[in-house]
Amino acid sequence: MELRADRTYLVETYGCQMNVHDSERISGLLDEAGFIPVIPGEQADIVVFNTCAVRENADNKLYGNLSFLAPVKKANPGMQIAVGGCLAQKDQDLILKKAPYVDVVFGTHNVGSLPVLLERARIEEESQIEILESLEHFPSTLPARRHSAFSAWVSVSVGCNNTCTFCIVPTLRGIEKDRDSADILREVRTLVDSGVIEITLLGQNVNAYGVDFGDRQAFAKLIRECGTVDGLERVRFMSPHPRDFTDDVIEAMAQTPNAMPHLHMPLQSGSNKVLQEMRRSYRTDRYLGIIQRVRSAIPTAHITTDIIVGFPGESEVDFQDTLDLCTQARFSAAYTYQYSKRPGTPAASMPDQVSPEVVGERYTRLHAHQEKISHSVNLESVGASVQVLVTEHEGRRDVERARMSGRTEDFRLAHFTFDEQNLARPGDVVTVEITDAAPHFLSGNGGSIRRTRGGDAHQARTREREPLLLGMPTQRV
Ligand code: SF4
Repeated sequence: MELRADRTYLVETYGCQMNVHDSERISGLLDEAGFIPVIPGEQADIVVFNTCAVRENADNKLYGNLSFLAPVKKANPGMQIAVGGCLAQKDQDLILKKAPYVDVVFGTHNVGSLPVLLERARIEEESQIEILESLEHFPSTLPARRHSAFSAWVSVSVGCNNTCTFCIVPTLRGIEKDRDSADILREVRTLVDSGVIEITLLGQNVNAYGVDFGDRQAFAKLIRECGTVDGLERVRFMSPHPRDFTDDVIEAMAQTPNAMPHLHMPLQSGSNKVLQEMRRSYRTDRYLGIIQRVRSAIPTAHITTDIIVGFPGESEVDFQDTLDLCTQARFSAAYTYQYSKRPGTPAASMPDQVSPEVVGERYTRLHAHQEKISHSVNLESVGASVQVLVTEHEGRRDVERARMSGRTEDFRLAHFTFDEQNLARPGDVVTVEITDAAPHFLSGNGGSIRRTRGGDAHQARTREREPLLLGMPTQRV
């Protein structure tokens, strides 16, 4: 394909980590095809929307953005617009009906075709649509422009075999496809060789890994294998499903030194009746049993979760069960969502939809309840000394005030003050004495710095990109 090095691109991403990771692939593909990231604030020649169908108002947001771009495109006929991701998979040709000036619509299974589709649309002067029903190539085999030099996501699977009644993912991303473990480990090693010190294994139902090739212990084995990679300091995973959470994974977490003491495991509801209606095939006693076993095997572990409030049929008693479960579980954080109908999901047509006022009121109560719990969990760390991996954006923002931020091993956000002479780099690890805590973060004093290969990689990348700050393009995702 002809290289078009004069053309710039922008990738706008909505939704979950899967989408953010897909956008790294999209950017990598566009780089490889000879396009260049646009300077922030300038109008790109190619705008790619990587959409999400799970979040509320996803359609309104996309169509609003598209109509905003319509006059821009009219004034710049060479400009191209592409729409990919879950909403493209769901709406398909509806996107072209509503926005005929869109050049390319591509599905979740054919990210790799984007450069070819853009070129075909340009030459044929006709919109291109390509939606595959199932995956042909694992997206991890595509090039990527990684967001961070020291922390990376690695997909282990795509799709999901569950049928949660509020979720559109199985329809849009298909049944679970597992990646070959040797291929996963090859990617992990390549990343580590390039300076990455933290990886997060990613899958819609990450701990079901192995179901595709009939090995129920495959996920635990994968964690242990990651433990053998020299130079890999932190291993995380998300998101596991309680149904598939087996004790061998707990043992692997406890016995693998670089597996971090953090478990993010969606609960969704503390009511067994609601869990049944959600078609979540576990009950609260199983959920609590898992976190109790995790804590007894890994005493420093912190647990975080996702909760949906106001699912159809949720009564005040059911909601109270959720509050009670939060009290019992003592999550360090809970990401709470107000239920709203997602077209195409079974829950959208269930009777007994809860009114938005009640949903909002319960959401506020749950939020306040969890804030108190998170605060009291975080206060327990005052006086402790923790290892903080300095993060890129937070670290960069606070450098001038000699304050930096990062993530503890158990994935809590920590802000710390610092001796200006000794500024750590994003990617380095700092020992922090915790002096105070809030519901959403810890705060303290930075002590010794361990300069890491991750910090070196970040510094090298920043140097490479310094000319970008002086006028060369950079990426906005
Ligand atoms: S486990 Fe349930 S919520 Fe998660 S992706 Fe699968 S169907 Fe959706």
